[in-house]
Amino acid sequence: MKGLRGDAILASVKKPIYLDHHATTPLDPRVLEAVLPFLTERFGNAASRTHALGHAAAAAVEEARARVAALVGAEAEDIVFTSGATESDNLAIKGAAAAARGGRRHLVTDAAEHNAVLDPCRRLEKEGARLTLLPVDRFARVDPESVKAAIGSQTLLVSVLAANNEVGTIQPTAEIARACRERGVLFHTDATQAVGKIPFDARALGVDLASFSAHKIYGPKGVGALFVRKGVPLEAQIDGGGHEKDLRSGTLNVPGIVGFGAAAEICRVEMAAEGARIRSLRDRLERRLFEGLDFLTLNGHPTERLPGNLNVSIAYLEAEALMAAIEEIAVSSGAACTSARREPSHVLRATGIERDLAEGSIRFGIGRFNTAEEIDQAARRTIEQARRLRALSPLYEAAVQARKAGAPKPA
Ligand SMILES: *Cc1c(COP(=O)(O)O)cnc(C)c1O
Repeated sequence: MKGLRGDAILASVKKPIYLDHHATTPLDPRVLEAVLPFLTERFGNAASRTHALGHAAAAAVEEARARVAALVGAEAEDIVFTSGATESDNLAIKGAAAAARGGRRHLVTDAAEHNAVLDPCRRLEKEGARLTLLPVDRFARVDPESVKAAIGSQTLLVSVLAANNEVGTIQPTAEIARACRERGVLFHTDATQAVGKIPFDARALGVDLASFSAHKIYGPKGVGALFVRKGVPLEAQIDGGGHEKDLRSGTLNVPGIVGFGAAAEICRVEMAAEGARIRSLRDRLERRLFEGLDFLTLNGHPTERLPGNLNVSIAYLEAEALMAAIEEIAVSSGAACTSARREPSHVLRATGIERDLAEGSIRFGIGRFNTAEEIDQAARRTIEQARRLRALSPLYEAAVQARKAGAPKPA
């Protein structure tokens, strides 16, 4: 495995500080330990019911199912394993639409969703469904009253994510779920960022469908789950051997599922203490940045926010230039040009922030293995490089002069 291009890329960067945990998380070593036997001697197919290797694989899958269920407030039989949250979102939305057959054809979601929700909704719209895209407030929050107002006699499903992957804002999920239940409308939530980070109880919340992913909670990539409340009509999107109660065919990814189960169990046990620790690191980073930089604004909700999320906009600065200058610190941005699409992130645009501020946005995602030293170094480097880059900006200079003169900042 020598000579892969990735090796060369990493070798060119100083020891990286990973602060991009909304994108993915490193595998917890305890998860790796749980997975390894299923990549080697315990290789059985969980659908092979004719020998011990198959039975052992099936038993491991069921244990993992119970662990995932325990983390998300579900019963094991409500959990359908998939290849990740993208597939879960597709199964929930397209599967519900297909099961509604000639019935209700109206979908409700919001402008700050992940593309794994928006794109299936848009595809169904192309195919004739009606789609309502609710606005969000400047914190990327959906108003439950707007959900109520959008629901009509033809509404099939409402989908609002539990916590936002860019700005970390936590949605009023319980209220939205209640509004849907009272009106007899299905409610799906993409809980990929919430689960394992903040309490999430599918049954207590009263959601019908909820999506999860292992690689956002220190498990392996390529495995996820959909919670399907009993009795929710859903049509499979992948047909084949009838696995997962006919909802998702395909030989089960046993090592991935075992890893997901182990990751879920660790989160269930450690979430409260870990959340407090990560929140204090996040608050430390937030404090340092606001002390060290002027014209800095917080994106996302000031309090109703994931403990590891810090998304800020540094005015008069291009996030891309900053990220290039602090390349040993792995962060991300909602600015244009950092992703395949050339527009600033749709989430930031939905919050109504100015384009310049979107272009100066940096997302820090703090996680399980980060240390206070790493946070301090990230703060120091970010401040030092942001100041250096801004010193070259006439706009920044003008803003400083205007502030000195007591005038409002220039447009
Ligand atoms: C990461 C993420 C996804 C995609 O999950 P995959 O398992 O990578 O397909 C979907 N929704 C949200 C909110 C996410 O953060």
